[in-house]
Amino acid sequence: MTRQIFVALGVAACAAGLVAQRQGGAELLLLNGRIYTVDAARPWAEAVAIRGDRIVAVGTTAEIRARSDRETRTIDLKGAFVAPGFNDAHVHIDSTGSLLVGVNLLEVHEAKAFTEAVKGAVSRLPAGSWITRGDWGAYEQWGAGSAGGGTTTSASPFTPSRDLVDPVTPNHPVLVQRFDRSMYLANSLALKLAGITERTPNPANGEIVKDGNGRLTGILKGAAADLVRKVIPPVPFEQRLVQVRAVLKEAREGGVTTMQDLTSAEQLRAYQELQRRGELTARIMLRPTLDNVTHTRALGISKGFGDEWLKFIGYKAWVDGIMGSSGAMFFQPYDHDPANKGLLRPIMRPEGTPGAAMGMTADQHYTDFPPGNLEKLIEQAIASGIPPHIHAIGDKGNRIILDVYEKLLATHKLTDADHRWRVIHAQVVHPDDFARFGRLKLVAEINPYHVSDDMRWMEERIGRERSRGAYAFRTLKDAGAVLIFGSDSPGTNAARYFLNPVYGLYAAVSRQTLKGEPNAGWFPDQRLTIEEAIEAYTKGPAWASFEEDVKGSIAPGKFADLAVFDTNLVEVGTSAPAKLLEAKVLYTVAGGKVVYER
Ligand SMILES: [Zn+2]
Repeated sequence: MTRQIFVALGVAACAAGLVAQRQGGAELLLLNGRIYTVDAARPWAEAVAIRGDRIVAVGTTAEIRARSDRETRTIDLKGAFVAPGFNDAHVHIDSTGSLLVGVNLLEVHEAKAFTEAVKGAVSRLPAGSWITRGDWGAYEQWGAGSAGGGTTTSASPFTPSRDLVDPVTPNHPVLVQRFDRSMYLANSLALKLAGITERTPNPANGEIVKDGNGRLTGILKGAAADLVRKVIPPVPFEQRLVQVRAVLKEAREGGVTTMQDLTSAEQLRAYQELQRRGELTARIMLRPTLDNVTHTRALGISKGFGDEWLKFIGYKAWVDGIMGSSGAMFFQPYDHDPANKGLLRPIMRPEGTPGAAMGMTADQHYTDFPPGNLEKLIEQAIASGIPPHIHAIGDKGNRIILDVYEKLLATHKLTDADHRWRVIHAQVVHPDDFARFGRLKLVAEINPYHVSDDMRWMEERIGRERSRGAYAFRTLKDAGAVLIFGSDSPGTNAARYFLNPVYGLYAAVSRQTLKGEPNAGWFPDQRLTIEEAIEAYTKGPAWASFEEDVKGSIAPGKFADLAVFDTNLVEVGTSAPAKLLEAKVLYTVAGGKVVYER
């Protein structure tokens, strides 16, 4: 623990620690638990002793109780289940925070609920703050059994008007969107700030919608929304702090003690401020985008820079789009959209051969073409000593990153080194490519909850055959990939993904929707055991960020990061996975401090 944090955690805690140390006692004892340690040397235990920010002993209740003295706090777990603190390998803290503090309209598709939800955001945000996103109508569309943004919509989808929100937003400008971005709603204040009146002409490729009397409804389509968007100021710093606090709260409540973030400069400033104020209750692993590499390299920042609470672990970049918007890159077109094979992210450009990725066929390799921007940036990352973490979703997107990794690992003689490079999502893999995950010793950073969400329309979009390689966790693991789990919170524009790890564990062991469909699980051969799933949410992510010595299991010398549940996750994960979804966190311990108590 750095001096900075030590001070932040308070002089009182410090003094107590020193006393306990002198007397050889512990500061916090957890007794009478069912402790699943994820430590092969001792998988189960009853009790843990903690001193400072570390675990000092693991054993039976009798053994651990002997370490008690006057300064010790003892918690009787009464048989509760304990796991290592969950380490969420894929969180967007920024957008999770803006969703938690702002407005979530995913489930909203009628007037009263719409007004209520916006009113809620007004109560959380200071006057003058913008209320944005929202994504109304997403669940209405799923309810209609559609392919979300693809083929069908309900007959008359809900369309709000500014009259629904004006009465509750006199001081909060609003620009919220339908989940598929097909339309936006601005309130009167936002229209005024943007200078839009009944006389404003429609911009090219856009429409300012009016009612039968020529009055503005607040609905804006296409480029008309840009007229409002361009007057939205950046998020104020104080609001950013409020947002990160909201994410830390959700993490504590879910037993999550580490989040591996996608990190912007503004967010990093907010994390540092909360660290100074002693408010970090989860460790945040930092991943700037790969295009920052020239700057961080120039500054000499390499892997592990920072401290145990804020640490640089990787560079993030993207090959392709996502399934939800049919932007993931495939060799063959989407079944529901025969003109579309997905898209390439801007960071991939310029390509060595323009159009190489789009034209590439299933018997080709991306490295058959001259190197493009991504390859050059990864070369710099190698020189800086921070591993690449690259997003790939479609079968072609995965082929591209595997090709680039294979070539660069060989060129730099790293194939057999301890590189721990990651493929983020590895969502749909071509049958020829699975073995490469093992051969190249890659980490597959996967989001099991995508299974429960996406399976509803995967086959409609890419057919049965390609779906065999989708979220193929068992095949990836058997091929030798190291699996690590992340929630991908806050989710997509059509569904909320929660930080609470029970959702991901449930998805990985059941391969069912939250409603338990299909009965036997979707491609059930790809199910993982609950032990494998917990490991992928604890030990795996710790190893993948080079922190296996201090995190990932409950063992002496490791950080005292623990999650206590009212339900034995191992037992129900095996016998009745649906019960995972009802499990409640009783305590969360991070760095030896109880940061959440139910
Ligand atoms: Zn993500």
